[in-house]
Amino acid sequence: MLQVLPPSISNLIAAGEVVSRPASVVKELVENAVDAGAKSVVVSVLDAGKTLIQVIDDGCGMSADDAVLCFERHATSKIATAEDLERIMTYGFRGEALASIAAVAEVTLRTRRPEDEIGTMVEISGSKPAKAQPVAAPSGTHLAIRNLFYNVPARRKFLKSDNAELRAIIQEFLRVALIRPEVAFKLTSNGKEIHNLRPATTRKKRILDIYGMNLAKELVEVNVDTTLVRISGYIGNPEDARKSTGNQFFFVNGRYFRSPFFHKAVCKPYEKLVPDDYTPAYFLFLETEPERVDVNIHPAKTEVKFEDEGMIFEILVAAVREALGKNDFTPSIDFDMKGAPDIPVFTPHGNGGDWQRPPKIDYSPLFNPFDVQAEPTAPVNPETRPADPVVPQTPGYGRLFEEESVAALNSLIVLQRRYIVTPVKSGMMVIDIRRARQRIYYERYLEKLAERQPVRQQTLFPVTVQLSAEDCLTVLEQPDLVASLGFDIQDFGGNTVVVNALPEGYPTSEEQVRVCIDQLIAALRDDTSLDDQPHLLAASMAASAAASGAGSLNATEAQLLVDQLFACREPKLTPDGRRCMTIITFEELEKKL
Ligand code: ADP
Ligand code: MG
Repeated sequence: MLQVLPPSISNLIAAGEVVSRPASVVKELVENAVDAGAKSVVVSVLDAGKTLIQVIDDGCGMSADDAVLCFERHATSKIATAEDLERIMTYGFRGEALASIAAVAEVTLRTRRPEDEIGTMVEISGSKPAKAQPVAAPSGTHLAIRNLFYNVPARRKFLKSDNAELRAIIQEFLRVALIRPEVAFKLTSNGKEIHNLRPATTRKKRILDIYGMNLAKELVEVNVDTTLVRISGYIGNPEDARKSTGNQFFFVNGRYFRSPFFHKAVCKPYEKLVPDDYTPAYFLFLETEPERVDVNIHPAKTEVKFEDEGMIFEILVAAVREALGKNDFTPSIDFDMKGAPDIPVFTPHGNGGDWQRPPKIDYSPLFNPFDVQAEPTAPVNPETRPADPVVPQTPGYGRLFEEESVAALNSLIVLQRRYIVTPVKSGMMVIDIRRARQRIYYERYLEKLAERQPVRQQTLFPVTVQLSAEDCLTVLEQPDLVASLGFDIQDFGGNTVVVNALPEGYPTSEEQVRVCIDQLIAALRDDTSLDDQPHLLAASMAASAAASGAGSLNATEAQLLVDQLFACREPKLTPDGRRCMTIITFEELEKKL
């Protein structure tokens, strides 16, 4: 039975913006379907939901009266009295979603309860009153949302590219699919199937269905129980950590939340196991007493506040560390849940002793997929190796040399793999290696992009790469651009791509192909269209390229890097305006000594 919440209760509930983009509609409708006891939920979108969002379920359906009433603000069947407020707060039943959606889109509802002979169709849009009529309908509910924000042009204009909106939809879809493995979920976009998830008996099977064997077989189980919180779920094998994010999920008491703070806790034990700025996958389910967590602090309801945040942070770190240790990714630390007090006490630095060991990840520190000119250490076919970089007489180069008269370029010192130090007339110049690389790659890429000149390719024995649905979309969305960067990537179906060719000079081992594709995805993820702002794409590619290229340099490599840097138009700054180099003058030195 539906009831309109009395104002006393509705006022208690923080009003929030329910609908900000197509993904929020998908979230609300899919949650409703699951709440209605559906065994199967089918979501189809056209144009990333901008044209049509359709959700069909086989749940309990609605009576003719309820089919009209459900569009009233604060109409919910999920709470009857104020005593239930705790429950609404927990699950976000506020009776607002359908009302909010109907206010900004054209909505058609078809619904029938299994016990009824005949179903109901309701059409509602904007402020027009709902029109109901009897129809023949399968039992369950079918909602079609057309032309979202048709009456709020500013909102509609604010939406991102179809690719970006679709990725957000997939995220919301998966957030529900992950907490309800027993329900079948299907998602299609413009007729193309993105996910088809069968009912699963365990979370792990659901994860496997979503991400494929590759990720799922490597998952490490997490399980801890304290009086504060119970944490269960899975974390990814360090070797599968990825540059692109998206496979990170926290749930509390059965609903998704995001938390940069807890994210840090999970990443901490991986620090020594994965390269910088790689992120492990995780699917962590927290359970705690409802009064220990406030889920209503954010209107979109994905941010939550825990009473004992600091403690849970420590428990997370320990749980992840222990799980990794048990699976021999790190020597196990002294963390025995059975013998320990209920809430383990953790020293700030951990008492785990030295659990570090070199990363298992096999990546060549000097390998850089975006470096078109092969690094000197990379295996290079002399026939295809591009001409040695000419040290051009660019203004930047000349000017700097006049000013500073770099005396002996071959007296370079590499410090801590991070800096190159070289004497200049006024003192010594310190070059930040990573930033220098960023500048060099940036200019190279910008040039390629501006010329629309495809980078020469080398074909390789085709490598199949399994991606997440979102990553797959990203890679396949702009085939011309990807091709012009020297990649030949084809859709293989099932969120898998086949890589047939890479830019010339790249190492071609299977793992390195994977790394390349990850970096390409990270670069393409910037939702900026190439035509508008090629420099943003170039900068983002350069940043990821430079980050992965860290490693020790020998003298020749350092020399090459310095030459390449000073061949740039703007050697002093990174594309985002940070300094690539500084000069410590003799005066400054004298002051110090
Ligand atoms: P809430 O989910 O907070 O109750 P909504 O606006 O999302 O508010 O939905 C209002 C009401 O409409 C629900 O409480 C439920 O009774 C009914 N409803 C919505 N979607 C469905 C569905 N797919 N199947 C059956 N009933 C539904
Ligand atoms: Mg709802």
